[in-house]
Amino acid sequence: MAYISGAAADVYRSTRKRTMAKKGTITIERELCKGCYLCVRSCPVKAIEPDRTSNASGVYPARAVHAETCIACGSCYAVCPDVCITVYEEAV
Ligand code: SF4
Ligand code: SF4
Repeated sequence: MAYISGAAADVYRSTRKRTMAKKGTITIERELCKGCYLCVRSCPVKAIEPDRTSNASGVYPARAVHAETCIACGSCYAVCPDVCITVYEEAV
């Protein structure tokens, strides 16, 4: 599942209703990230941290860590001002 609008969002909602999945993974577009770390602060399970290496713009982007802890809550997606994050929900 990706937190995107339109038909895909409808697919997410129906999938979520059917499976009530709790496990997720995320991807972060590190070259788009501006390092505000709103996502880091929003994650309830601390699955996102600042990276130790910078992107091409000299920003230390957010990166996913402890991937096994992600609960696909969508908070990081919701707060990212630059839509750098995609959340995928896995059936469990
Ligand atoms: S909220 Fe978005 S722009 Fe800000 S650090 Fe996280 S991924 Fe980067
Ligand atoms: S979806 Fe929720 S639990 Fe997973 S990384 Fe984003 S804020 Fe953290």
